Amino acid sequence: MTATRILVLNSGSSSVKYQLIDMADGSRLATGLVERIGEETSRVKHGDRETSGPIPDHEAALRAVAEELDTDGLGLDSPELAAVGHRVVHGGLRFTAPTVVDDEVLEEIERLVPVAPLHNPANITGIRIARALRPDLPQVAVFDTAFHTTMPEYAARYAIDVETADAHRIRRYGFHGTSHAYVSRETAKLLGKTPEEVNVIVLHLGNGASASAVRGGVCVDTSMGLTPLEGLVMGTRSGDIDPAVVFHLSRVAGMSVDEIDELLNKKSGMVGLCGDNDMREVVRRAVEGDGAAQLAFGVYVHRLKKYIGAYSAVLGRVDAVAFTAGVGENSAPVREAAIGGLEEMGYAVDADLNSVRSDEPRLISPDYARVAVAVVPTDEELEIAQQVYALVRA
Ligand code: AMP
Repeated sequence: MTATRILVLNSGSSSVKYQLIDMADGSRLATGLVERIGEETSRVKHGDRETSGPIPDHEAALRAVAEELDTDGLGLDSPELAAVGHRVVHGGLRFTAPTVVDDEVLEEIERLVPVAPLHNPANITGIRIARALRPDLPQVAVFDTAFHTTMPEYAARYAIDVETADAHRIRRYGFHGTSHAYVSRETAKLLGKTPEEVNVIVLHLGNGASASAVRGGVCVDTSMGLTPLEGLVMGTRSGDIDPAVVFHLSRVAGMSVDEIDELLNKKSGMVGLCGDNDMREVVRRAVEGDGAAQLAFGVYVHRLKKYIGAYSAVLGRVDAVAFTAGVGENSAPVREAAIGGLEEMGYAVDADLNSVRSDEPRLISPDYARVAVAVVPTDEELEIAQQVYALVRA
């Protein structure tokens, strides 16, 4: 029997998301989520089944996942399972492609914890436990940063003292790479072209948000930096600010580094501006005349426009701009507002096409527009599974 199934694990700080995908036909055999790990009210959602009760740690969470899969006859001991693919947030400069995990690779991912303190530890735990459960199975790490390692040095560097930067590995790495890779390729497909033939701006607008400039299938710039805090306005993250705000908060407001970290990562962005991080709520309130929601929407869209303009200049010629992730795929008002006013630059949105709801990749620009505006649903799990399967089959 050929092993064609890939289990994709996305271990976050308090959650584990997973999908079992059969690469023979791309079908999802199982989809699930363990959330609120470490709390009394942890929850396991496996397809339509849902159970709740305390799940103390990631080990217990992965055991719960294994049990759910077992119940459906899809257990980790199945001979059809080819590999486990792990989403790993930070791969630094070393990991430019999916990598089979051995002790040395795991150590290197651990060495990157200082630059990804919120994410890499959970990813490492996920890998360790999955390895313990099925030691003979390839465990493959797929890095959020990998797609961006092609950025030219002048786009990756901050203009700070080089020695200090190098000593502490301070540079722009970028994140959401699997999504930017997948969506840029799917956008080319939608245009009937190969990735090499097109220049695309990808706008991944979810709870976290990032933009990338992709020239001929290769990433040349992206909005997130050393950490996923830089760039666009997000659900709870500020995105770009003057770094002197940090000194000011420390010196004048007397805040500690940890407090500032929490302020900028968890209490800023749309939540900080108007108290809501769900774009549906923000738009609903804005339409009803709520001033804070209107301002938050304005700040969000203004930042987005600035990145579209910047990446148009970086690319020189843009064939398409693609909206993806929760907000990008679903919020017609955000797409309309972000593209509105850019007609002289060749961008336009057709109101009727923009209002269509669909799970399929689609164009929302009128025929006359010089640049195609597309909505392209992202599929990070499928992208991870494809990369893992290609590696273990090779
Ligand atoms: P993601 O991180 O890609 O799952 O995106 C999550 C975010 O997408 C949520 O916080 C919402 O702000 C946004 N979102 C989801 N559904 C919609 C919708 N129908 N309209 C507008 N925004 C949405």
